[in-house]
Amino acid sequence: MQPIALLCEIAAQGRKVAASAYIDEPCFEALLTDGFLEAAGVIQSMPCPNCDALHDAEIVHHDGRDGYFCAEAGFVPVDMSEIAAVRANVPKIIAALADAFECRARKPSPLAGATCRVGRVTSEACDIAIYFHGTLQTEDDAAEVSAVLAREPRSTYQLILSAIGILQVPGMKTVPLSDAIELDTLGAGFRSIADLRDLVGAARKNPGGAPNRYGETLTSLINERMTSGMAFDGRNAEAKAVLSKFIELNPGQKPPSTSLVRDYVSKIRTGQ
Ligand SMILES: [Zn+2]
Repeated sequence: MQPIALLCEIAAQGRKVAASAYIDEPCFEALLTDGFLEAAGVIQSMPCPNCDALHDAEIVHHDGRDGYFCAEAGFVPVDMSEIAAVRANVPKIIAALADAFECRARKPSPLAGATCRVGRVTSEACDIAIYFHGTLQTEDDAAEVSAVLAREPRSTYQLILSAIGILQVPGMKTVPLSDAIELDTLGAGFRSIADLRDLVGAARKNPGGAPNRYGETLTSLINERMTSGMAFDGRNAEAKAVLSKFIELNPGQKPPSTSLVRDYVSKIRTGQ
């Protein structure tokens, strides 16, 4: 298994897992050394191999040893190598993502639930806010992400990287981690393998100044206000007025960021 695939498989489980299940993977030790995986004590329970009851037995500490109780076999001690647990180191993952995408506005932090903010990448044409959410497979995952991101500052695009699942959330773009980055072990960390603008479906800026998805609407709004003498002198005041007009005219649509509107106001005023 590739390092990124192994990391995603463990991160997707969202809890500690038995190290013994992965110890034979060649990159397992390297992921631990690099800190993408971390030791997490012992697993909570294991299937009992001692009887026919097919029960899941809780791991307990008894008489100075780790083991579990079975109705037939009594206390069964187990070797540490069987029950040692690891989990994905999420703070390390989000910090490494912020590095890989060279987020200028870095603010890696967990938000509510399992949603983490990685940071923001800003270019002339748009800004892209990046988030990590381990799983995007169920309606519950999608609802959690929507609720958390609704409280985030506005950006042109919101990109959610997931370890597993590509359930799309309205107004955002979900991409599997392995489509966005490669993982090189021996301390090398994540390497970006995709252009963020491609991932979110943003229009590329070309020499003719390709408009982004708001370009045409904003340009005509700004021009209208200028020719009718309604435009405010202040760039900020004008951007605010244009933005409220945009929201009024496009009620169902996700509005552009204030900074993007301000950029358009500047460009049109200076005749660029
Ligand atoms: Zn048993």
